[in-house]
Amino acid sequence: MSFKPLPVATETSQPFWDALRDHQVSIQQCDECQTWIFYPRQHCTHCLSDKLTWKPVSGNGTLYSFTLARVPTDPAFADEKPQKMAVVQLDEGPRINSTLVYLDEDEIQVGMRLKPVFDDNEKEGVTLLRFTGEHCEPPAPEPVVKETVEPATAVEKVQVKCTDIDAMKALVSEEFSAWSNQLEVTQALINQFAELSGDDYWIHTDIEKAKKLSPFGGTIAQGALVQVLMTKLHIPLAYEVVGFNNMVNYGSDKLRFPSPVPAGSKIHARSRVKAVEASSSGTQLTLEMHIHVVGQERPAVINELVIKYM
Ligand SMILES: [Zn+2]
Repeated sequence: MSFKPLPVATETSQPFWDALRDHQVSIQQCDECQTWIFYPRQHCTHCLSDKLTWKPVSGNGTLYSFTLARVPTDPAFADEKPQKMAVVQLDEGPRINSTLVYLDEDEIQVGMRLKPVFDDNEKEGVTLLRFTGEHCEPPAPEPVVKETVEPATAVEKVQVKCTDIDAMKALVSEEFSAWSNQLEVTQALINQFAELSGDDYWIHTDIEKAKKLSPFGGTIAQGALVQVLMTKLHIPLAYEVVGFNNMVNYGSDKLRFPSPVPAGSKIHARSRVKAVEASSSGTQLTLEMHIHVVGQERPAVINELVIKYM
């Protein structure tokens, strides 16, 4: 459930979110003409008066309209299939966009009576307003199982089946992940790689000469070294692809070294899913990985890895 985007309160909407935290639905009413107003605004939608007062209401209402979204609207919501999106008409009149909970698909009917559900996200200190049937109760909480997993590694991830092509395609994003751990690229590591690969060009290994002649003021790491150090950079991904027998590193669509990594600098990485395609042999995912020197805008390595799940 983590990694889902959460609302950001504005000055105008803050009282609505504050009330939800106290498990109370509160909306604005016009002092002049008594019109109830939602979403939060600065003026009455009926008479344009700016004399609005926040008032607690029951939160009860009827289902005005709904949509069952069977294709995740965002990878973070892949665990809610279908997403039960609803327009709820409060008894006071205004309509609220929300989601339905504790209801099976075939129980949902336009016009049904609904009551509010206060969904606390304790970690973030936010309470979301959802709705359920008037007589529905939340399912009994699952028994708490004590896990022996180290807490630092127990990141909650959305699991995506590699055969669920719609869910896989929903992973495609313009936005990059959070950063990985940082790793120092030492001169010793560069020397080891020079020995292993035979790439011992002076710009990598001759510190004195590089100080005088290198356009970077010293030695730099081999591009290929930085590229393979990717395996030591652990990127915190919000998803985990599951349900495959075999995962194959199929190669790279594009590999670039746009900027140098001076010896002694720290690097870190992030990634995004650039493309997902179904092929006869399985699902092919293109992962665009960027390695940067910490603090540098320009990546040191761009690698568009092609991974096949079979
Ligand atoms: Zn008014």
